[in-house]
Amino acid sequence: MFCMVSFIRMKQTKIPDARAKLAASLPSTTEILRGSLLHRTIRHRSGCATCAQGDGHPVWVFTVTYPGGRTKQISLSAEQKTLVRQWLRNYRKLKDTLERICELNLQLLRPEKNR
Ligand SMILES: [Zn+2]
Repeated sequence: MFCMVSFIRMKQTKIPDARAKLAASLPSTTEILRGSLLHRTIRHRSGCATCAQGDGHPVWVFTVTYPGGRTKQISLSAEQKTLVRQWLRNYRKLKDTLERICELNLQLLRPEKNR
């Protein structure tokens, strides 16, 4: 499978093709989001029958951390949760694929041994 390509040292002449295939497999570069999706339960201290029974309210929360440790957090509707999940997946795939292309380029820079 193609996902293993970055871990196998290949002949340098094969790298441009491998790189092009990886680039062609990139997901959307616009529908992306960096961060995490968390499932939490909100519990009201008083005045809520649901929470009084111990059930609480399930909510989906998106969090993102910035360099320096600052974070942003927003709660999501059910439709947003589905969208956010897809955007997070796209972002991860995009990052992984770019990382593999970088690895191939690194191989191009290093002299080939055992010929
Ligand atoms: Zn409540």
